Amino acid sequence: MATADAHIDVALIGAGVMSATLATLLRKLDGGLRMIAYERLERAAAESSDAWNNAGTGHSGFCELNYTPERADGSIDCSKALHIAAQFQHSRELWRSLVAAGDLPAESSFLREMPHISFVTGNDVPYLRARAQTLARSPLFHDLEYTEDRGQIAEWIPLVMDGRAGDEAVAATRVRRGTDVNFGALTRSLIDWIDDVAGFGIRLGREVRDLRRADDGWLLDIKELDSGDERTVHAKFVFIGAGGYSLKLLEQSGIPEARGYGAFPVSGQWLRCKNRDVIERHHAKVYGKAAVGAPPMSVPHLDTRWIDGRRELLFGPYAGFTTRFLKQGSWLDLLGSIGIHNLRPLLSAGIDNVGLTRYLVGQALLSDEERVELLRRYCPSARGDDWELQIAGLRVQIIKSDGHGGGELKFGTEVVTSADGTLAALLGASPGASTAVSIMLELIARCFPEKWRSSDWQSRLRAWIPSLGAS
Ligand SMILES: Cc1cc2nc3c(=O)[nH]c(=O)nc-3n(C[C@H](O)[C@H](O)[C@H](O)COP(=O)(O)OP(=O)(O)OC[C@H]3O[C@@H](n4cnc5c(N)ncnc54)[C@H](O)[C@@H]3O)c2cc1C
Repeated sequence: MATADAHIDVALIGAGVMSATLATLLRKLDGGLRMIAYERLERAAAESSDAWNNAGTGHSGFCELNYTPERADGSIDCSKALHIAAQFQHSRELWRSLVAAGDLPAESSFLREMPHISFVTGNDVPYLRARAQTLARSPLFHDLEYTEDRGQIAEWIPLVMDGRAGDEAVAATRVRRGTDVNFGALTRSLIDWIDDVAGFGIRLGREVRDLRRADDGWLLDIKELDSGDERTVHAKFVFIGAGGYSLKLLEQSGIPEARGYGAFPVSGQWLRCKNRDVIERHHAKVYGKAAVGAPPMSVPHLDTRWIDGRRELLFGPYAGFTTRFLKQGSWLDLLGSIGIHNLRPLLSAGIDNVGLTRYLVGQALLSDEERVELLRRYCPSARGDDWELQIAGLRVQIIKSDGHGGGELKFGTEVVTSADGTLAALLGASPGASTAVSIMLELIARCFPEKWRSSDWQSRLRAWIPSLGAS
């Protein structure tokens, strides 16, 4: 067995928002931990966490209609929206505490208030009305506004109403204090801060090639991509936060908990507005209803974004088929992820989700004009010349064995941990970066149970995230 060139307490694989959040929390809980994040690219947060690769919505359930499905009796199930709204509060509280302590720069460098609006037409109007009535009962949604008044909606979102046929029923809800988050800027600021304090380091251009059990932890084989040099590092605890490559590394770990998982990548594209006059006329994130057969993360939205200090306007995402697991990954990723242990779950999930496959193929074959036609449902007067195609990040959805040979396609995230709590991985893609703090708290509770329950860690956490544990 190879001996280690270095010994650390925590190895983080990948430098996206998840690793940065975990490192921040651990740093606040135990200042003595020696932690290193290994990142294969030359920049942190250059995959899904980068601003251009995701929608930057601070998911709070204000406008995302896929979080509030209609039950068979016509009532609205708001449990997911309430859960995500509470989770996003944890993220906001931690970020605010870090800004107040001077650990993060001003909040405006990564987060802006942006009205969150849901917009529907025709037969979807009664659904939105019922949703608004149900959500307004929760204090988290106390300021949700609802209207069917065309003039009011035109005031909120002029681009959406310009050129819209007058006889069409319309409805919208608005929460003014929604947010647009630049998760790339946030991640890089978090990493800059922990990189400055003793005990943490980030190693860019280093790819973790393999990992295996060792006494008291794990051995990681790490390749420096520029020079080709390889070294082995011993870590007591490993977090696999490698985005689309997490499943591959989890399988390499050989832990039994990794068995039965498969993965299915969905690529994304936006239409990005080039016309400054059009961009300046819109100031909101407007979410509609997903097309029939579309996966939940393909809900169309017309989004104002703040990226690199500039206002931008995106529409999408358009989904597509890909075999890569990272934007800067390999075409062979999907093939390489298939083995005896997940072949049946993969096939079974494929058979059960023919509608989804058909939808993805349809999206991949869209022409430029067809994409603009879809945009016109939200922005009727849109001119094709004002918009260009922009490639978004990838989401790698999990396929999980059902224990009877079948497989289920999951759209959420899943934290997988080894029985002894020395290794954890994050699989899946949704609701994503907004809930990074809650996801990483769950991970810490599972992997460091005794310390988690200690009054020391609990009081530290509550100082940073006051609403933790509250209803
Ligand atoms: C189109 C789209 C829209 C989205 N919209 C939203 C949204 O509006 N709101 C929201 O909250 N979330 C959104 N998300 C989800 C969100 O972007 C992700 O959940 C989040 O960025 C995942 O962060 P991560 O740290 O897990 O992964 P990533 O940011 O992908 O980071 C993983 C890192 O690991 C590195 N890596 C991989 N393998 C190795 C290795 N072997 N060695 C070293 N490094 C490695 C990669 O290079 C990468 O930098 C969206 C995602 C997509 C694709």
